[in-house]
Amino acid sequence: MKPKKHLSFGSLHNFMSNHIHQYPDWRQENKNDYSIHDAVMSGFACMYFQSPSLLQFQKELEDKEKNNNMRTLFGVSDIPENTQLRNIVDKVDSEYLRPVFKEFLARLQRAKHLEQYQFLDGKYICNIDGTQFFSSNKVDCPQCLTTTHKNGDITCSHKVLQGVIIHPDIKQVLPLMPEQIVNSDGTSKQDCEINASKRWLLKVKKDHPRLNLIINADGLSSKQPFITEVNQVGYHYIIVAKQDDHKYMMEWIDAFDSIPSKSVVDAKGKRHEYEWVEDIPLNGRKDSIRVNFFRYRIISIDRNGKEKINYKCSWVTDLPVNTETIEIMVKGARKRWKIENECFNTLKNQGYCIEHNYGHGKENLCFNMYIFTLLAFYFHQIFELTDRIYQACRIKFGSKRHMWEKLRTAIGWFVFESWDLLLDFVLTPTKYSKPLRKVSG
Ligand SMILES: [Zn+2]
Repeated sequence: MKPKKHLSFGSLHNFMSNHIHQYPDWRQENKNDYSIHDAVMSGFACMYFQSPSLLQFQKELEDKEKNNNMRTLFGVSDIPENTQLRNIVDKVDSEYLRPVFKEFLARLQRAKHLEQYQFLDGKYICNIDGTQFFSSNKVDCPQCLTTTHKNGDITCSHKVLQGVIIHPDIKQVLPLMPEQIVNSDGTSKQDCEINASKRWLLKVKKDHPRLNLIINADGLSSKQPFITEVNQVGYHYIIVAKQDDHKYMMEWIDAFDSIPSKSVVDAKGKRHEYEWVEDIPLNGRKDSIRVNFFRYRIISIDRNGKEKINYKCSWVTDLPVNTETIEIMVKGARKRWKIENECFNTLKNQGYCIEHNYGHGKENLCFNMYIFTLLAFYFHQIFELTDRIYQACRIKFGSKRHMWEKLRTAIGWFVFESWDLLLDFVLTPTKYSKPLRKVSG
């Protein structure tokens, strides 16, 4: 795999920038100080450089060098001040950003980088999960989800259903366009993760009709209506099935004298126990779907020879489970934590500051800020996979936080004609250093 030009910062940025340039302007002509493009790309740049404060980043941008870097790197001609930026971004329809996710995945596929993510026979694992990205006791909008506490206090929040393509052996994850878990006008019932998952499924299928996904989800989703929807769009599933949630199915399994099993002892002496059974009913309904079930335990033996269960979990799937596939199925299923660990935790704790209050807005501000953060993360995941200079920087600076501090500092001092030049500068600053001489006069 060679780094391809169309996966470079310049090319990915150009696609996004051109797309935003075409956003229909809803404002009256001649009354607009700042373009929609400049507002969106400035908001995105803040997330891209992992600035913990939009306001602070904004202020620093007034600085000549940073201002010029916004022009050279992000194509922004006029940086809107904070309130205007928020007001404009608030009104941009979040769905407009969907083609950017679609295009990035298509580019990875064309450059053969997606191939390595194949899990089973051309199928890809897509982990899905919900996460909260905005919470407040004060602000609310008609779309806010609300939680009433015992003392009568109400918390408003915004949540999202996120899908990411993963592979058990690859660190980088590839995000798909998220679906907001959000109350729509005129409905008294609150939206929920499972309904958002169903909407997300239909949209992802439309975006990527030929992508063969295995939906890897938590126990909340191991219900007949959701599984039916997954199969209807032509996808497969591996979903956690907790014993307590599936009493009927568990009784069915217990009624067998024995079920197929396999036991493997690893180098550390831990025993990995696998059990499975195919073609059993998920529930007691007359029209119950049939599923394949598998469970897994890790057992260690302590100093006194006593057995201890270190881990156990069980799942349902429509994929074949047998002595050949069971270990790989468990390996894939257990990587469900990758969405929490590699995606949400990175977005929340490693510089992206997704939960930082960038403002709620009246329409789409907080969801758009989430999407900008996710897109910035997507750019960086693509560079980790494909860009040698970026990979060298990651190694040189150790932590991501440290690397982004260096990059932010550099754009505060110098103007860079391109992103590649900026990376090269922080990687080998000596190449560019000359003794500074006093300017005469
Ligand atoms: Zn709200």
